[in-house]
Amino acid sequence: MDKQGYIKRIKNFKLKKSLGQNFLIDKSVIDTILKYITPDDDVLEIGAGVGFVTEQAVQAAKSVTAIEIDKTAIEILEKNVKISTLLSNPGCDFKIIEGDILKTDISALKKDKKFKVVANIPYYITSPILAHVLGEIDDVDNKNRNSISEIILMVQYEVAKRLVANEKSNDIKDYGLLSILAQFWADVEIIKKVSRFSFYPSPKVDSALVRIKINNKPRTELNPYLKRTIKAAFATRRKNIKNCLQNAGFLHVEECLKETGTDNNTRGEKLSVENFARLSEVLYEKNKN
Ligand code: SAH
Repeated sequence: MDKQGYIKRIKNFKLKKSLGQNFLIDKSVIDTILKYITPDDDVLEIGAGVGFVTEQAVQAAKSVTAIEIDKTAIEILEKNVKISTLLSNPGCDFKIIEGDILKTDISALKKDKKFKVVANIPYYITSPILAHVLGEIDDVDNKNRNSISEIILMVQYEVAKRLVANEKSNDIKDYGLLSILAQFWADVEIIKKVSRFSFYPSPKVDSALVRIKINNKPRTELNPYLKRTIKAAFATRRKNIKNCLQNAGFLHVEECLKETGTDNNTRGEKLSVENFARLSEVLYEKNKN
């Protein structure tokens, strides 16, 4: 179906700007998402809208659970999906949940396997959703994260760059708390850049599809100071690491920096996750009493 075909299908639908409704109308982007779904997958779709992705997913997966907050969208979603499931994959176990993803315990929905999450969601809830599904870095047993194998997520292009950034990134503004949160429990890659004209209505910014593959193990060893150290390092971006850590109330800062071979004048955005792990460990040893 071409873009006009998709637009025609929603011409009577009253779009709700307040819910960030920008539907995908570009079949090539929908096909790219579908490439990540295999017949054995239990898919969880967040913000399914009227089902332009869902109707394809039910043809490809073992089960699809669609969460959508908007009742009117759900009425159309139901119809759209019924037609295509009946046609080509009657065995797919399809369920719609009317509700807010941020208030949903994903582990309570889980089937026999971890979910593959697909989400083209409003960009104002990208960060809350990531925090909800990934949990804090030191939250070892986060129930939502433990219920998910990977996430195929549409984000604003600027956010995609932050999600994959590290201490070696050219644009130092990209690497920060969001990068570390995403990469602490997952491998993150940009699948492709997506034009604003792939959506109806078109948002003002370009997007990117990212793949967040969740690992069973954290990226580094955890210690009680890791999160605090990272937060302190990025709290004031213009300050050097020594000042950031001292401002956050850590003692023996210069000693710890020296012990870990960290320059007093370096900045948070030049330290790798592994550097933070080591530094926080030493800070913990010297501050805990
Ligand atoms: N994924 C669909 C729809 C994208 S628009 C597509 O690609 O065509 C984003 C959808 O997310 C909207 O339908 C909106 O109603 C829904 N949404 C917004 N906030 C939500 C929330 N907190 N929980 C669940 N769905 C939400």
